[in-house]
Amino acid sequence: MALIVQKFGGTSVGSPERIEQVAQKVAKFHAAGDDIVVVVSAMSGETNRLLALAKELSNKPSLREMDVMIATGEQVTIALLAIALNKIGVPAVSFTGAQVPIVTDSEHGKARILTIDEAKVQAQLQAGKVVVVAGFQGVDEQGNITTLGRGGSDTTAVALAAALKADECHIYTDVDGVYTTDPRVVSRAQRLDRITFEEMLEMASLGSKILQLRSVEFAGKYNVPLRVLHSFKEGPGTLISTEISTDKNEDSMEQPIISGIAFNRDEAKLTIRGVPDTPGVAFKILGPISAANIDIDMIVQNVAQDNTTDFTFTVGNLDYDKAFEILQATAQEIGAGQVAGTTSIAKVSIVGVGMRSHPGVASSMFEALAKENINLQMISTSEIKISVVIDEKYVELAVRALHTAFGLDAEQN
Ligand code: ADP
Ligand code: ASP
Ligand code: MG
Repeated sequence: MALIVQKFGGTSVGSPERIEQVAQKVAKFHAAGDDIVVVVSAMSGETNRLLALAKELSNKPSLREMDVMIATGEQVTIALLAIALNKIGVPAVSFTGAQVPIVTDSEHGKARILTIDEAKVQAQLQAGKVVVVAGFQGVDEQGNITTLGRGGSDTTAVALAAALKADECHIYTDVDGVYTTDPRVVSRAQRLDRITFEEMLEMASLGSKILQLRSVEFAGKYNVPLRVLHSFKEGPGTLISTEISTDKNEDSMEQPIISGIAFNRDEAKLTIRGVPDTPGVAFKILGPISAANIDIDMIVQNVAQDNTTDFTFTVGNLDYDKAFEILQATAQEIGAGQVAGTTSIAKVSIVGVGMRSHPGVASSMFEALAKENINLQMISTSEIKISVVIDEKYVELAVRALHTAFGLDAEQN
C-alpha cells in the first residue's frame, strides 16, 4: 500500500463535471488500497477573477487582505471535491492550509512554508479517508492566512509529500508531461520521459510555468519522486529524477545536449548611462534596488573609453516602475547620465546538463538566432544554461528557431 499525493491544477477542476472526473480518478486509486492526499488549485480563472475584483477598489491593496481573499478560490474547490467523492461513496474530508496547518512565514503573496504538522492528515488517512487539501495557502505564526505565489499549489503538493514521506507525488495538469518547450508555442515540442531536478529547476526559474520553482526546489531537497501527468489521459508523463539515466538499457550517448527551452516575457530592462567608473559603483546602483526588495536577474556592465560605463540589469515586470524611480534618484546622487528602460523584452534560455561536456553550444545558439535576424541585447550563461534577452516580439520566433536548431522537433506525421 502506497501513500500518494496527487495535485490537480485549475483547468482540471475548472467545472463541476471536471471535478466529478477528478473524483472518479481519485476513487480508483483509493479502491486499489492506496492512501490518497489530494491537493487542488482554485477553479481555472478564479484567482485572476478575485485579483481583478480587488484592483477595482484599490491599486495598492493590503497584501494581508489580498491573501484572505485569494485563498478562498482553493477553499471552494476542496469542498466541491470532497462532496463529489462522498457522492460516489468515497469517504473524504477537506482541509484548508490553516487547518492542516501548513505554517509559513509572513511574506504575504509569496510566503514560504516553514513546517507542516501532518498529524491531522495522518489520522484521517488512518480512518480510511481521502484527505483533500487546499493548495497555494498556509497560515503564519500569528494566525494570518498567507499564499505561496502564483502556481503555488504545486509547492503545497510537494511539501505535503515530503512531510508525509509519500511514496509518490503526482502533478496532474492539462498537458501529458514536461515538454522540450511550451507545447502551446511550439507544436512540435516533445514530451520528455525524464528530466533531472537540476534541469527542471533551471527550466522553472527561467520561466517555464509548468511547475512552480519552489516545488522543484522542495522535491530536490527532500528527494520526493515527482511525476507530471495529464489529468484525464493515461500515459507515463514525465519523471523528475536525480539522474537522467539509471536504466542500463538506456543509451546515455543519445541524451540530447539541450533538454529544453524556456522563455519569460515578464521581465524588464533598465539602463543607467554615463556612470563614473569607480570602485563601489555597482553597489551604489544595486544596493537601493535590493533594499526595496526587488530581485535583480541579469546584469551587464561595460566600460567606455571616457571612463564612464553603461550599467544594465533586468527585473520582473511588476517591479519596473519602482526600480525606474529608484534608479533616477541614484543617477542624480552619483552624477550619472540618463536612465532608460523597457518592459518589452523577453528572456529565452536553453537548458541541458549535456552542455557541460559539449563546447560550442553558445555559438550554435547565437548562430540560430542570427539567422532569424534577432538582436541579442544581453547574454548570460551558467554551467547548464544559456540565456539571452531579446525584443519581446521575437520570442516565439526565437524559441521555434532554437527548437529546430538543437534537433528537438518531433517528427511530423
Ligand atoms: P495547472 O493549472 O495544472 O497548474 P499550468 O497552467 O500552471 O497548469 O501549467 C501547465 C501549462 O504549462 C501547460 O498548459 C503549458 O502550456 C505550460 N508549459 C510551459 N512550459 C511547458 C513545458 N516545458 N512543458 C509542458 N508544459 C509547459
Ligand atoms: N490558484 C493559484 C494560481 O492561480 C495557485 C495555483 O493554481 O497553483 O496561481
Ligand atoms: Mg500551475
